[in-house]
Amino acid sequence: MIITRPRDPARIVENLETVGARSVFIVGCQQCATVAHTGGEVEVGELARFLTERGYEVSGTEVSEVTCHLAHTRVELRRHAEELSTADAVIVLTCGAGVQTVADAAPETPVFPGLDSAFLGNVIRNGVFEERCQMCGQCVLDLTAGICPVTTCPKGLLNGPCGGMWDGKCEVMTDRECTHVRIHNRLKAQGRARSQGSSIPAKDYSVKLKPGSVNLRAQRERARRKSGGDR
Ligand code: SF4
Ligand code: SF4
Repeated sequence: MIITRPRDPARIVENLETVGARSVFIVGCQQCATVAHTGGEVEVGELARFLTERGYEVSGTEVSEVTCHLAHTRVELRRHAEELSTADAVIVLTCGAGVQTVADAAPETPVFPGLDSAFLGNVIRNGVFEERCQMCGQCVLDLTAGICPVTTCPKGLLNGPCGGMWDGKCEVMTDRECTHVRIHNRLKAQGRARSQGSSIPAKDYSVKLKPGSVNLRAQRERARRKSGGDR
């Protein structure tokens, strides 16, 4: 999931002041931001109270089912058309993708982020999150026993350990086991340790163009044509 952190409320107020907003609509998300305790019903309610206490009018709120889903969010915001039309600004308590979805769905109104997107990670336990994937686009988890070296090794080394590893511990995060020691031990336990000298080839980051895009419809259509489905 996308891990988000709350923004300094002073920054949010500053954003509102830049457009002279007095009336605000707030959007949250039922997915990652709810699990991260940053943009669910509770946090949207807290922000609404915070703004009301400072003299703003909250014209309405919506905690969307999946805020980064443009079609869904458009439909959900349409139900709040009147509340949105009276809002001078929208604050979105979601990851950056959700903020951009709302900005696209309501392009006539200034839209501001209420959170900072931190990383793609796992819930270790309630309220504790750790980064697990940097979406490099060329996953090597098949070769590393399901442990991501790009993300969990502070140096992002594909093949390690580095010269600083000591007694199995990481030289940067000294309270943790070196990622490459973990990978080696897990592969060995599974009976598939890499032979000495073998290495994971360097990634070709030139193929990771931005913005990333996956078009499943086009892919399916190409597959259909290839299999003769268009005859
Ligand atoms: S190698 Fe790591 S960063 Fe790359 S896709 Fe796999 S989990 Fe994500
Ligand atoms: S000790 Fe291991 S995990 Fe830490 S930086 Fe070096 S290779 Fe990466």
